[in-house]
This record gives sequence, C-alpha cells and structure tokens, in this order.
Amino acid sequence: MAKKKHKDTIAVRTQLNKTEFNEHSVPLYLTSSFVFDDAETMRAMFADEKPGNIYSRFSNPNTAELVEKICLLENAEAGVAMASGMATVFTTFAALLKSGDHVLCCNSVFGATHTVLEKNLSKFGISHTYVDIHKPNEWSKAIRSNTKIIFVETPSNPAIDLIDLEWLGKFSAKNKTILIVDNCFATSVLQQPIDFGADLVIHSATKYLDGQGRVLGGIVVGKKNLIDEIRAFARSTGPSLSPFNAWILSKSIETLSVRMDRHSSNALKVAEYLEKHPDVESVKYPFLKSHPQYKLAKKQMTQGGGMIAFLIKGGLKRGKKFLDALEMASMTANLGDTRTIVSHPASTTHAKLTEKDRVDSGVLPGLIRISAGLEHIDDIIADLDQAFKKSK
Ligand SMILES: *Cc1c(COP(=O)(O)O)cnc(C)c1O
Repeated sequence: MAKKKHKDTIAVRTQLNKTEFNEHSVPLYLTSSFVFDDAETMRAMFADEKPGNIYSRFSNPNTAELVEKICLLENAEAGVAMASGMATVFTTFAALLKSGDHVLCCNSVFGATHTVLEKNLSKFGISHTYVDIHKPNEWSKAIRSNTKIIFVETPSNPAIDLIDLEWLGKFSAKNKTILIVDNCFATSVLQQPIDFGADLVIHSATKYLDGQGRVLGGIVVGKKNLIDEIRAFARSTGPSLSPFNAWILSKSIETLSVRMDRHSSNALKVAEYLEKHPDVESVKYPFLKSHPQYKLAKKQMTQGGGMIAFLIKGGLKRGKKFLDALEMASMTANLGDTRTIVSHPASTTHAKLTEKDRVDSGVLPGLIRISAGLEHIDDIIADLDQAFKKSK
C-alpha cells in the first residue's frame, strides 16, 4: 500500500470516483433523489441494510465527498454536513440532549450559539452554565450530575482566548461528558481537537472552509456513535447541506492549507503592527508573544490563524470612527474571507447579549475584530494606518 499521504495532499486529492466521462474535476450532483435498480434494492436501502444514496436530504455524493475530506483532516471517524454552522450547532445539541440535561459552555462563544443556549434550548428544559476559560477550577465547580455536553471555542470569538484542549479532553473524559469543540477559527489545518480528546468537532464552513464568502455550510465530525445519532436526527428534521454548496466547499478545501498559511502570516504582521501603535490599548493574537496563552497556542496550534482582536483607545466612539475611516477593509458580517474584514462585535454579533455577559466574554465596547485577508500585507497595514490617523 502507498505511504499515508500528507494532509495537504489529502485535501487536494480526496474525491469521488470518476464517472464514465473520466472527468478530472468532480461534477455537481444536482439531484434531489436517486433511482433504484429494483424493488428489493429499494427496500434494503430504506432499511439501512444496503449502502447508497436515496434522497438528498439523507445523503448526496458531493456532500459525502466533503464529509470524507473533513474527517480525514480532523482524524475523525464520521461526520454530517449541514446547511450552516448554526444548523450544525443546533442539530448537534438537539440530537444529543434531552429535557433535564445541562451544558457547560465557555463564556466567550459565538453570539448565535449563545442565543441557542439562552433562548432556544431553555424552552425544552435544557440548562447551561458559562465558565471562565481562564479558571480551570471553575469547570469542576460548574459540572453537575446532569451535565451531558461541554462546548467550547478555541480560539474564541471574538475575544481570541484559548482553552487547553489536552486538559479539557481529560476533564471531559473523567466526567463522562461529550466534549464538542467549535474549530471555526483555527480550522482543520491549524488544530485537530480530536487528537486532544474532543468527541466532536464543529465548523461553520461558511468561514475559512469556503474562504471566499460565497456559500453557507456547516459540518460536525467525530465519534461514530454520536455522529450516527446526529445523522438520524438530521435525516428526519432536514437541515441538509445543498449539493451545490458541498461541491463549492470541497473544492475550496483544496486550497485551505495554502490560504491558512497566508492568513496566519498576514495576521501576525497586523498584530505586531497594532501592538506598536500608540492608539491601541491591547492586542490579542494567539502567536503574539504577549498573548497570555502564547505557550498553549504553540502547543495546540501550528499557526496563529487569521483572527485578531484589539482594543482601541477612546472606546466605542473612536471605534466607530475608525471603522468608518477604513478605505479598503470590508465592514461585513463574515470572517475567514480572502478580503480583510473589520467588525465591531459589541454593536453587532454580540449586541443581543446582556451587558454583563458581554463584558464577561471579553466583548468590551472598544473591541475591534480583524479577519486578516489575503491582500498584500503592506496594503492592509496602510489602510489601518490611514484609518487611525483619520479617526483621531
Ligand atoms: C459564524 C460562526 C458560527 C455560525 O456559522 P453560520 O455558518 O454563520 O451559521 C458558529 N461558530 C463560529 C465560531 C462562527 O464564527
């Protein structure tokens, strides 16, 4: 057998078998259903006795290719792709939890995930507790006999805080909980949480996996027994990823590793620039030596990724003026794009949180988040530089 391939190669070369046309690039299977050879095959496939595609709400070749690729990159046994990151977060919770269960969640988490816990799951009698990721002893205090899931983001959005995955993996195993890591910021290229003990890894594929701001998508990968439960739930409730989006995403992942290299090197240079700027109070970037968890970042990530957070002097007012003064960077509700994106979490993605939850999760009024794009680094810095001057 051939030597096991490198991940970069797997991302490029994992594809469906060729059809009779011998195409080089995988075609788009835009079909809602599939035909059966005979009535007995149809019966057996519906009964799960025979593998194969029945209906695109259940499975589709393009979706299967995407899932296989992410499983290989994340060292996961199985996976399910869905229509968006939030469809994946909600479906995973809904499939694995029941009324009376409890979730432990890190306090710096994506705004909509916060809303799902706060507003949607609470309706079904599922409770949660937020834990400060910097205080490991708080995790032990917060865990209950009915805690079923531990959910974390690392690096977190938007505070760029890290969680020690090796420690948390052991903690979760000891307490017999399901550890779920939202790996959106680091991507499968920079960090593989399953190697540290995560049971499931979730991605908003909308972000770096697409990387070009075109399609929505989400994926969860991990232990087969858990994925089977999630798949069964998704099959009947229908948050399925469209074949078109799966086709786009699978092609995007061919360049993920190359893009993450550039996102990371540009972000590091932006972070270093910001750190020296007199109008900046503080900067958070995992591979910046001043990050309080720099050592941990080096241990569990291969590069720092593309996301930076900084506090501008002058708070909210100056922050808004700074955003308005930008000439090139986009003001938009996405991240992980080829284009540099600058946003203000306190007034946008995290506006629905209470003031206390916002401050607890590190979303201070003057916090600005940058998703470093793939433009030339000199042009990115020049834009930030003129915006600092113009917003004085
Ligand atoms: C965007 C995002 C999500 C949600 O993904 P959608 O594809 O927008 O539904 C979840 N987690 C994180 C960390 C995100 O940045």
